[in-house]
Order: sequence, then C-alpha cells, then structure tokens
Amino acid sequence: MTDFPTIKVFVSLGSNIGDTEDNLNQAVARLEKYEGIDPQVWSETYQTEPQGLKEQEWFANQVVMFAVDPELWAPHGFLSTLQAVEGQMDRVRGVKNGPRTIDLDLILFGDEVLEGDDYLTVPHPRAKDRAFVLHPLAEIEPDLVFPDGTSISDALKEINYRVEGDKIYQD
Ligand code: AMP
Repeated sequence: MTDFPTIKVFVSLGSNIGDTEDNLNQAVARLEKYEGIDPQVWSETYQTEPQGLKEQEWFANQVVMFAVDPELWAPHGFLSTLQAVEGQMDRVRGVKNGPRTIDLDLILFGDEVLEGDDYLTVPHPRAKDRAFVLHPLAEIEPDLVFPDGTSISDALKEINYRVEGDKIYQD
C-alpha cells in the first residue's frame, strides 16, 4: 500500500547470467528499499531469444510497474538508481547487447517525454521495437497509450514476433 500520490513508472528487467529469475526478483527487492518507489504490478517472466548478439543464453525478461512519488523522484534520479542497482548486482558492462546479470531499462515515467539528452530518453527509444518489452507491458497495462498517442496494441501490430507459452521469439 502507498500513502502518497503516485505516478506509474514502468521498468523492463532482463537477465541471462546465473539464477535469472532470482536476479529479477532481487532487483525489484533492492528498488523497493528506496522511499517513494513501490512495486505494484509484475508481468509474468518470459524467456526471450537474444537480439543482436545471438551466441549467448536466452534472457529472462519482465516488466514491473512501480508507483513512484513525484515529489521524491524525477526521471534522471530514477535512472541513476536503476544504474546503482545494476552496479550493486555486479553487472559487467562492455559488450553491447551482451550477457548481463541484470539490465534495467526505464520504459515510461508517467507521461514524461525527454529527448535530446545523451543520458536519458523516455519513453525508452527502443521500447516499441522490442517484443520482450511490449508483450509484458501489454499484459500488465492493456490500455496503455504512449505519450505520442500510440496504443500498446497498435505498437504490437507493428513488430514481428511470436509468443509460445512463456517464450518470446523475435528476430
Ligand atoms: P544499456 O546498455 O542498454 O543498459 O544502455 C545503457 C545506456 O542507455 C546508459 O548510458 C543510459 O544512460 C542510456 N539510456 C538512455 N535512455 C535510457 C532509458 N530510458 N533507460 C535506460 N537507459 C537509458
């Protein structure tokens, strides 16, 4: 339960090293410790084909909606916190789209639109290309409309992907 006026913040979580489901849970548990960040809705965890660099393990992916106190958090500070959690969980950076203990992407921060900034773009610039983001997002927020007016169902129609049980395939 939250006792503050909140905005909805959607985070995409991914992991393909170690106990991947545990890594996703641990990241949410670490975020929950911060004041004004309250996880509220979890998608299923999906197993997804790696994009880009194919010679690596499949990813566990999930989207979580957090109720966030806008008096305590703005998008940049929130992203810094996601990166701090990635750092605490020993993420090894370096290989683009390569293996990772935890990857945390800020997909939507309420209705905020931030562009032209090297550090942060919201909505996440590649969210609409990625089935592993859109499918779980649609599961937990089926009526979602992006700030540019695109509905989540229209965004899903624009990409080629396939879901079989908990597996998401996308070339
Ligand atoms: P990645 O390797 O995919 O985690 O990308 C991390 C880089 O993307 C960092 O330099 C971030 O500052 C930048 N970035 C820009 N917009 C976002 C966003 N919405 N969520 C996460 N990282 C972002």
